Amino acid sequence: MVVVSKEYERCMRIDLITLLPDLLRGPFDNSILKRAHERGLLEVVIHNLRDYTSHKHRQVDDYQFGGGAGMVMMIEPIARCIEQLKSERDYDQVIYMTPDGLLLDQPTANKLSMSKNIIILCGHYKGVDQRVRDHFITQEISIGNYVLSGGELPAAVLVDAIGRLIPGVLNDESSALFDSFQDDLLAPPVYTRPEDFNGLKVPSIILTGDEKKISQWRHDRAIERTAERRPDLLK
Ligand code: SAH
Repeated sequence: MVVVSKEYERCMRIDLITLLPDLLRGPFDNSILKRAHERGLLEVVIHNLRDYTSHKHRQVDDYQFGGGAGMVMMIEPIARCIEQLKSERDYDQVIYMTPDGLLLDQPTANKLSMSKNIIILCGHYKGVDQRVRDHFITQEISIGNYVLSGGELPAAVLVDAIGRLIPGVLNDESSALFDSFQDDLLAPPVYTRPEDFNGLKVPSIILTGDEKKISQWRHDRAIERTAERRPDLLK
């Protein structure tokens, strides 16, 4: 049984604003994020942007001024949704997922996991009217140098990266500390039963039970792997 101690009694709230709510439900109904929710540590609320438009056909996008292919998401429903949320509670950040944002990395996820409430806006088509970005967004995040068709998958990536860092979400707190990037090192290789699979053996040192030696071995392998694959991390 896992005891959730008093210091964990802090629920983080993430409001997601999207045109495709269905696309976002799956990722949060499974595994670690589901557990986070069940333990009362993370609440993810999904808002359908179409519920915030006053347009009679529930239109949320329009042609761009100046011409050119692709629709632009209108400011009006987005402003209404964000203002409604902000009238209910304070937010640490209002994030827009966008390929020209700051590249998501572990330090950013660490920092965001300390927030109390955040809003994440998912874009579509050509993206959102620039005035949304200028006046409502406090942080812009990209998940990589490639373009996806919508901000939902990037938002799910961000929420997962943040959610698993909230104290009490992982069964073993220290687990996240040894993941790749936490200390600018990639994670060392891992092994599990059987010790010998058709002659493929696991390194004998990790079977010794000698914690100090194992820890040194893991550290050495982490450095080795980092030097080989990501020398840029070894400053
Ligand atoms: N015209 C825009 C791309 C729009 S893609 C440009 O060239 O910058 C449509 C939406 O998908 C974006 O508004 C954003 O919310 C999301 N998106 C696409 N790629 C992304 C990425 N790499 N990181 C974060 N969000 C992304």
